[in-house]
Amino acid sequence: MSAVIETYDLSREYQMGDQIVHALRGVSFQVALGEFVALMGPSGSGKSTLMHLLGCLDSPSNGRYLLASEDVGQFSQRQRATIRNEQIGFVFQTFNLLPRLTALANVMLPLQYGGRQPEVRQRAEAALARVGLADRMQHRPTELSGGQRQRVAIARALVADPAIILADEPTGNLDSQTGADIMQLLGELNSEGGNGRTIILVTHDPQVASHTQRILHLHDGEIVREERFTTEDTENAEGRKNSVPSVRSVVQ
Ligand code: ADP
Ligand code: MG
Repeated sequence: MSAVIETYDLSREYQMGDQIVHALRGVSFQVALGEFVALMGPSGSGKSTLMHLLGCLDSPSNGRYLLASEDVGQFSQRQRATIRNEQIGFVFQTFNLLPRLTALANVMLPLQYGGRQPEVRQRAEAALARVGLADRMQHRPTELSGGQRQRVAIARALVADPAIILADEPTGNLDSQTGADIMQLLGELNSEGGNGRTIILVTHDPQVASHTQRILHLHDGEIVREERFTTEDTENAEGRKNSVPSVRSVVQ
């Protein structure tokens, strides 16, 4: 399987006055095309910092980051913006929809600079239909439930057909049933299409993580443990939630 993400000893430090905060202390891992990966770890362990680097919102202090074999770690801000628009869709805990725009207009936003209007509209409608909101396209965010808002955000992440979807606590503001529905949708998006879509998500919740194939555990800016589940385990995620995880390999 070809790796879509490769990091080598990736680190990120922040200067805070005369102190240096080591948010990431050299993480190395690969994600294959079509994988579904969860990042877990306590607050402050570096999850969002890592997601920002993976999403080309930020540059590492040290180490290398290859995205689809391109060495993006040293890219300029402008180059990062370009590759981000082409390769990455983001989903956030707080949905981040524009309140004055309809669902359709929110989903059209990522395509505004790259296509003819009828085609842009058609693609946005198709993305909304894919997440089950064909009958809510003209609603504004305040006229939608939390789960529906997150579906709009997922449609917006999908509309440019990115290789990778990055989701930072996508179920954090949802009740558990709605969160499970969203995870089911992400699971379908992960497995459908030719090679499937690569998804990396941050969560605090082991039940949410149980929908994925692999969990990377972060602590103090380092990957301290990795769990991988077999396909069978993933299909039996219900059972896994309540039992000792059947871990195929644990890397310390
Ligand atoms: P998590 O998402 O796991 O809660 P973060 O990646 O947000 O963790 O933060 C990791 C560490 O880096 C924390 O100690 C945090 O305070 C620090 N940090 C994050 N962003 C910044 C920033 N922009 N400036 C300074 N320190 C930061
Ligand atoms: Mg965070």
